[in-house]
Amino acid sequence: MTKLLTQGSPDLVFLASGVPNPSMFPFQGASVTLRDGSTIQLEGKTINDALQYGPTQGYGPLLAQLKEMQQKLHSPPCWTNTEVLITNGSQDGLCKAFEMMMNLNDHVIVQEPVYAGTLAILNPYKPQYVPVQCDANGLIPEELRRSLESKWKSEDTQSSKSDVPKILYVNPAGANPTGVSIPLSRRQEIYQIAKDFDLIIFEDDPYYFLQFDKERTPSFLSLDTDGRVIRFDSLSKVLSSGIRLGYVTGPRELVEPITYHMQVSVLHASSLSQVLVSELLKQWGQEGFLGHVDRVQKFYSQQREIMLKAAETHLTGLAEWNIPQGGMFLWIKCLEVSDTRPMIMDRALKKDVILLPGREFMTDPSQPCPYMRASFSLASPENIDRGFRNLAQLIREEIEL
Ligand code: PMP
Repeated sequence: MTKLLTQGSPDLVFLASGVPNPSMFPFQGASVTLRDGSTIQLEGKTINDALQYGPTQGYGPLLAQLKEMQQKLHSPPCWTNTEVLITNGSQDGLCKAFEMMMNLNDHVIVQEPVYAGTLAILNPYKPQYVPVQCDANGLIPEELRRSLESKWKSEDTQSSKSDVPKILYVNPAGANPTGVSIPLSRRQEIYQIAKDFDLIIFEDDPYYFLQFDKERTPSFLSLDTDGRVIRFDSLSKVLSSGIRLGYVTGPRELVEPITYHMQVSVLHASSLSQVLVSELLKQWGQEGFLGHVDRVQKFYSQQREIMLKAAETHLTGLAEWNIPQGGMFLWIKCLEVSDTRPMIMDRALKKDVILLPGREFMTDPSQPCPYMRASFSLASPENIDRGFRNLAQLIREEIEL
């Protein structure tokens, strides 16, 4: 259609499109105030674009800005074959990617514990999970190799053996729920295993900008010499979660099916959100955006310190925990409570504290689990301290029960 339009004469009468007439929309403009007092004005073409249907892959100017950022941050080795697709948050991209690549009862490899939102996507496929243990440095490559080799020889992947897993799901930085990040050397080993077993790596990395080390660890996308990584980014943690924008980056052959899914299911991500973010990035520039994410990262890093201090004060002797390297979660293991679910579901509310039981993040939630997840995102320092004091009492009472 676009080709026909560009070829047509200026006198062309266009009767083909099914888009609504924007003069009938009640909105004429929008003004958004930033925290520094400056404003973003949507008017003229930008408000029209914001209120109208747009291209499935994403609003052109935002797509260009995100592509530039991906190239700068990750320098994907296969850049000329790399596509970016804007989605309704990273959950949307992740869900559509699984939908396009999963069959009923497929084997799927996941780091365990695993983000509950991923389990919610996968469970309807009744998959055969291949859970791979994590430690304080995330997914353990030796465990991954061992669990693959115990079931499949790497040559099987070249044959037509249908139960060979295709997908390895990782949440590499500041993972949900553990807060741990996979260091570069491990990422390289995992990438090599993915090569040996011909796996596609789903790199779900919404906490990429919330890594607490000075330098962000290079992503799997940045290691991807042979086009087997599909990466999911999110604007939820750094700009707004309600704006519902994420972006998928990967080889054309993997991104294209997700784009078709987008086209038939939702047409495209919200134009209003995309135009607003694009105007914001235009106003800030890439450096301004990166300066902003640094401030966000510092906030979460301070919150982490407050939670660690409260854990030290109240939970020593009752529980143990890793130091989160990114994100917004502390993963706590009770030393003498074998299953946190009954304690949390039945008794925590009465103690004025709520956390998530570890079972929510397990591929087999029927098993007892001594872990629980605490978030340091929202609570004030006083409430973090009070919450952990209450939690300590709860655990003591549970042990005495
Ligand atoms: N992946 C992980 C690991 C998450 O923690 C979340 C947010 N809870 C998402 C994906 C979804 O994020 P978004 O808001 O971008 O859809």
